[in-house]
Amino acid sequence: MAGSIHEGPEFGIGDFVLLREVTHEAFLENLRLRYEKNRIYTYIGEVVVSVNPYKTVDIYNQTYVDHYKGRELYERPPHIFALADSAYKTMKRKSRDTCIVISGESGSGKTEASKIIMRYISAVTNVSGRKEVERVKDVLIKSNVILEAFGNAKTNRNDNSSRFGKYMDINFDFKGDPIGGHINNYLLEKSRVVHQQNGERNFHAFYQLLSGAPDQKLEEMKLSRNPDEYHFIRQGGSPKCSTINDQSDYRAVMAALKTLNFAFKHAETLWKIVAAVLHMGNMEFDTVDEVHDTVGVRDGHKLKNLAGLLSVTQEDLKKALTSRVIAAGGNVVNKEFTKSEALYARDAFAKAIYDRMFSWIVSRINEVIDPKESGTGYIGKGTVIGVLDIYGFEIFQNNSFEQLCINYCNEKLQQLFIELVLKQEQEEYMKEGIAWVHVEYFNNKIICELIEQPHKGILAILDEACLNVGKVTDEMFLTAMTQKLKSDRFTCRALSPADKTLEHSRDFRIRHYAGDVSYSVVGFIDKNKDTLFQDFKRLLYNSKDELVKAMWPEGIQDITATTKRPLTAGTNFKNSIIALVDQLATKEPHYVRCVKPNDIKSPSNFDEERVKHQVMYLGLLENVRVRRAGFVYRAKYSRFLDRYKLITKNTWPNFRGNEVDGVKMIIKSQGFEKDVAYGKSKIFIQSPQTLFTLEETRDKYI
Ligand code: ADP
Ligand code: MG
Repeated sequence: MAGSIHEGPEFGIGDFVLLREVTHEAFLENLRLRYEKNRIYTYIGEVVVSVNPYKTVDIYNQTYVDHYKGRELYERPPHIFALADSAYKTMKRKSRDTCIVISGESGSGKTEASKIIMRYISAVTNVSGRKEVERVKDVLIKSNVILEAFGNAKTNRNDNSSRFGKYMDINFDFKGDPIGGHINNYLLEKSRVVHQQNGERNFHAFYQLLSGAPDQKLEEMKLSRNPDEYHFIRQGGSPKCSTINDQSDYRAVMAALKTLNFAFKHAETLWKIVAAVLHMGNMEFDTVDEVHDTVGVRDGHKLKNLAGLLSVTQEDLKKALTSRVIAAGGNVVNKEFTKSEALYARDAFAKAIYDRMFSWIVSRINEVIDPKESGTGYIGKGTVIGVLDIYGFEIFQNNSFEQLCINYCNEKLQQLFIELVLKQEQEEYMKEGIAWVHVEYFNNKIICELIEQPHKGILAILDEACLNVGKVTDEMFLTAMTQKLKSDRFTCRALSPADKTLEHSRDFRIRHYAGDVSYSVVGFIDKNKDTLFQDFKRLLYNSKDELVKAMWPEGIQDITATTKRPLTAGTNFKNSIIALVDQLATKEPHYVRCVKPNDIKSPSNFDEERVKHQVMYLGLLENVRVRRAGFVYRAKYSRFLDRYKLITKNTWPNFRGNEVDGVKMIIKSQGFEKDVAYGKSKIFIQSPQTLFTLEETRDKYI
């Protein structure tokens, strides 16, 4: 594994910037070649492109840690350790906040990458072995176990798929040792709580509880070990997964909860909520009054169990499940549900209670990893490395509101990426005193605006539709968009009747930077409104379980009080993404772009078509172009001299002058004066060809 980024031709090219030509073919060819040789990492300048190996590759052990520790990126073959080290060095040496943005589609290896980065940082810090710092590291790493239990699920793409976006800051003291952290979570896929596609599972926690909890506990919760008995977790038809051991995972979660100092009774409540959701899914309703179409709960036993788990009265629970109260003109009236309303309300209830629990878990973890609580005696927040592990671009057969949110998030990140990469380049040129070369690139700001602009964008139009009292249908929302949006990036049947690619009249299409996506408008209003009746909030607020109560503070509100309308799901998400991007923009960024080689989780299959798509969505070729538009290569004078001194007699075997003169002699001897620029501390080379020739010439001498 010795050597620099130049590993020899049999391993392809370690940095895509040095490709002979920037084409999809050349890019894919190099990526495939490296993947086949187990070289899963390749650079684009300072960006790491990672291909999921789908097998254990022994490249993360201590020897590798030592090999990369404290080194510069180009001194060693491409590796995610080098990027982690680079972020760490920047943070420590320059006292700059840094961040690592990991993107890629589901199953491409983002979460693994974030864990590898955390483990690397853990391995290179706390050399003096302070106990409190060791504890902090342990807590940071174990927090993943809890988040994954409640926020990950088996999907058809990934057996351990994160169903939420995660941004985690790790705080360091002046010595560069971790003293704590903070997590932000984004958009948990709560629809999974009540429904799973064929072959998929609900969140791991449900199966962990059923397989792992002691008999007595299950008995108390009136649960059976058999997942097939529960409507909410059996719909995918695959409760067992060969790569997952729910039983031992349950124990690991319990241990992690302990390490993170969760109170015993809080841990109990979390599992009770999980159990409550299972029971809730089995709640059935019978029509009791044909004339008024009202319902009753079918099984009193189930009601009793559920009420017990949530520590609420059966009477209150029954009311909330079968009716709601409405305050109209000062009068409070009780409105009984129809059967379908009751089922709808039940599902909304289950989703909300799980979602709220997940958010509570994150906030509780944050209390524990708060740097102030670390016991390291450090005051202030120190310097941070932020790690973002977030869903990549999604294009499915059927795209809905969730995909729009996720793809909007990717547009924002792409915009930030382009701005930052260009800014970084520009800053370096300025620092080195080199004239700025203007770079043409695609700016996706217009697409971000199409979605997010106040009053005019898609999300604003959707909010307006949701505000309307009376029945506004998804189709009416589509019509409103058709009338109000003026952008060549938006279209639908009404606007382009001849467009055969718009399959359905209820579809609209956005031309994203990564490609065209058609969204079906069905369900947009409902998902954006995300209504949970006040009755449920009040019910849970009145729970005798202090944790359940604490999760639902808004339940305190009286029915007659005019409630402020809660923000819609879309607006909430937009706000959180804007805040995220603002935060990332203040930090020095590092990027990991993850690629999934195939859809069959195979270690030996490189599906060219699938990879090509991802290379497109991730904008990798554009990235190479931007990088090459200025100078493809730059190196400190000392390093350049070291590498190439042997190719001219002026600098080899003996050279005693200053570095810059030495470098200039080398360049002159090869006739490359026109292709380079001399900065304050680095030489810049414009075309890849110059670099190739230098390398080839060097090869002749060694
Ligand atoms: P994502 O978070 O992008 O959806 P994951 O990080 O969960 O994807 O990776 C999916 C699976 O791929 C993992 O469970 C693991 O089996 C495999 N995998 C990903 N990265 C690596 C790696 N560097 N080495 C070995 N296996 C990996
Ligand atoms: Mg993941």
